[in-house]
Amino acid sequence: MIEVSHCDLRYNQAKSQVKVYDNFNLKIEQGESLVLIGPSGCGKSTLLYLLSGLMPPTGGEIQIWGEPVKGTRQKTAFILQEYGLFPWLNVEQNVSLGLRVRHMTKGKYKLLVEDMIQKMGLGEVKHNFPSQLSGGQRQRVALARALTLQPDLLLMDEPLSALDALTRERLQTLLLEIWQEQKLTTVLVTHSIEEAVFLGSRILVLLDGRPTQVVGEILNPLVGQRGYRQTEEFFQKTSYVRSLLERGGLDESAK
Ligand code: ADP
Ligand code: MG
Repeated sequence: MIEVSHCDLRYNQAKSQVKVYDNFNLKIEQGESLVLIGPSGCGKSTLLYLLSGLMPPTGGEIQIWGEPVKGTRQKTAFILQEYGLFPWLNVEQNVSLGLRVRHMTKGKYKLLVEDMIQKMGLGEVKHNFPSQLSGGQRQRVALARALTLQPDLLLMDEPLSALDALTRERLQTLLLEIWQEQKLTTVLVTHSIEEAVFLGSRILVLLDGRPTQVVGEILNPLVGQRGYRQTEEFFQKTSYVRSLLERGGLDESAK
């Protein structure tokens, strides 16, 4: 579905250039839940910006369904770390915003929005403003808004990192359900090893190397299975990801 081919990305800084990606290649299949994990500054957000079309690569090309990405596209939803909610709009208005921007009439979007609000468990707070919501509720509003647009690609930049542990686990389960039900293709950035293994059907471990290096790629076929968190396999995968992050990648013989 997605093909990143020979992409370069350089940022201009005060007196120099930072080479974040150099001849970077990546394929993402439809229905994958790809997780990017790595230390701060290694280029995770940059990769999401490239995939979203918000930022063009300085070299190379990205294609989605065979079409070169030129600017943002309707079917790509992007959830930023700070939720991106408008403080002066209530929950209902925030959720319907994307549809209104696309000139859908109220008669058409009202049911869609109400459905999504119920599904995300936001019924009781639908007239509240973002400042009157908990972090978990805000994140669910952001998700609801993204999903009403029926995206085929959902990009999320550390969506759960500001939440307390229990809320975070609940929302992880919600994300997993959404991914499984809708067969969405998702790319999620996280700092949490457990979250990566709980949510990723494939996990890319990135390290900051100027340019960014992919030091590990882990297939995680049991993702989404009931009780996965408690299994030996889950434990092994998290240990492996941890070892890659700690040692900056294993050499071939150690795998
Ligand atoms: P991550 O999301 O993994 O923390 P980023 O993709 O945000 O990393 O950043 C990768 C590198 O690029 C970092 O070293 C960062 O300082 C640099 N960088 C990011 N955005 C800019 C920018 N707009 N201008 C200059 N340098 C940037
Ligand atoms: Mg980032």
